[in-house]
Amino acid sequence: MVFVFLHELGHALIDLLDLPTVGKEEDVVDEFATWVFLKGAREADPQDAEVAIEALLLAAESWRLLWKGTEAELKRGKALPWWDEHSLDIQRYYNILCLIYGSNPGRSWPLVVRSEMPIERARKCEHEWPQKEKAWERLLAGKYVPEGQPRPPGEWGRFVFLYGEARSEFGRQLEEGMRQTGGFAQIVDALNEVLLLPPGEVPVIGKDCGFANAYWSSSEKKIVLCWEMFRFFLDAYVDELKRTAAGQGGEPPAPPGPAPQPAGLEMGPLGPHLRPGQDGPWSFAAERGAWIARNTSNPGNLWRIRAAGSEVPAGRRRFGVGLEMVADQGTRGAGLALGDQESGGAFYLLRTAQGPLELLREVREGQSVALATLQRWPLASPPTAPSRLELVEDGQAVEILVDGRSVGGLRDPGLGRGPIGIAAWGTGTFTFRGFFLADAAVGRPTPPPALAPAPALDLRIAGTWTAWPADAQGRRTTIQLQLLEDGRYLETSWLPTGLVQRVWGRWRTANSRLGLQPEGQDPWQSCGPQGCWPLPLPRPVDLVYRPMAGGALQIGPHLFYRGS
Ligand SMILES: [Zn+2]
Repeated sequence: MVFVFLHELGHALIDLLDLPTVGKEEDVVDEFATWVFLKGAREADPQDAEVAIEALLLAAESWRLLWKGTEAELKRGKALPWWDEHSLDIQRYYNILCLIYGSNPGRSWPLVVRSEMPIERARKCEHEWPQKEKAWERLLAGKYVPEGQPRPPGEWGRFVFLYGEARSEFGRQLEEGMRQTGGFAQIVDALNEVLLLPPGEVPVIGKDCGFANAYWSSSEKKIVLCWEMFRFFLDAYVDELKRTAAGQGGEPPAPPGPAPQPAGLEMGPLGPHLRPGQDGPWSFAAERGAWIARNTSNPGNLWRIRAAGSEVPAGRRRFGVGLEMVADQGTRGAGLALGDQESGGAFYLLRTAQGPLELLREVREGQSVALATLQRWPLASPPTAPSRLELVEDGQAVEILVDGRSVGGLRDPGLGRGPIGIAAWGTGTFTFRGFFLADAAVGRPTPPPALAPAPALDLRIAGTWTAWPADAQGRRTTIQLQLLEDGRYLETSWLPTGLVQRVWGRWRTANSRLGLQPEGQDPWQSCGPQGCWPLPLPRPVDLVYRPMAGGALQIGPHLFYRGS
């Protein structure tokens, strides 16, 4: 994202500062963006430098991914866009890699190996980098404040970051996230500190444009960053992650996590799994304690979510949810999800738009999933009236209650146990309220387990720690571990694939061992064409830790440094 911005900034500076360009401007501004990253990395401390280079690699990676898409089109007979003002995506990829390598051949050698860049090109990169560096430093001489020098007096122009209209859910989320973290506004402020622009304000606008692009408008003197462009790149990553996961036979990973769970959501054990945002045809929101799922486009899609930890065969359980539907042509129904998936017995108790309450069983035929109706119960109230669905389980049987009154029961070996949750099928707006899980034997919610005595904490190691382990291919993961003094921890990992993973829970120490007990994570679910499933929590770990000379801390196999 930052790369795209710096690319457009390059166009802006060429225009605003009337810089001469020899060569294709598109290549030139890619080089500019790369140079800014690498220059930043060189002036930062080693840890920030790694982060900057990771971000740059990620940008390069997106060109490689786009090229993979083009390759597929070429195979289908599409012509190569020779006429385009941009170099081919794959050339842009190698050009960025070339400069990264050239700026520090010793460190970046694994990169060349990994990218399959021929050694002949790599050798030339060692000369290309100093050339580009010299060019940019000369071009911009007198137009920026060199490091460590005071800003010359006088009136200078500045970039101003503005939020334009965000019409899509994705745009709104992106804007929300940026407003919280500073986002581009922060980058723009930092640039204003060093750039010496002609007087005046130059807007940088982030908004939904209706198309995926980012551009410098020379006539209006403004940079426009379309949120659709970021969506486009994000989708390319997610597709790639899915392909990689499919290739390894793993579960498709979830898209990067949406905003945290809203406060006040009253959905019992489902609460921790519910996050507002967009997922396939579904958009989710939390309002006044209720959970609202909306699907406007895909009448065939079934969304479901199950509470983690509810898969214990609990004997007599009682659970339920309040439901209200705004139905349309494509509405099928909504209600409770239940049953043991392992034995193939996934069931749904749905209030259908056609009227009756239905118990459906999921039938898997190879890759596809269909729902078969097992039983119907007519109901007096119209389907769109608010109602409350409840189930009382007893081993292999269930009793069904609507608005507190029993409407019938059913016996099936797959019923009466397994994970529980909610589901919505087809288009429409489905409002769920007050999901609960109780012990049917006593008729009240299961009490939380007795609190364990407060664990011992070695407060010497409280604080923020960062490690940069590399895998066999030299790809680095950044791991940040925050150990809070109140016993909570947050572990954030920036994976080489671009995925950010967060796990949080409780930490304790005893006999030079650090125990981490996960309680939550983000991404928290895995989504496929058939719906979404919560991902299992990582296992608790118990690792030897050892404070090292120089303030480092060894935890298990990794060496952590203080700070973020
Ligand atoms: Zn451009």
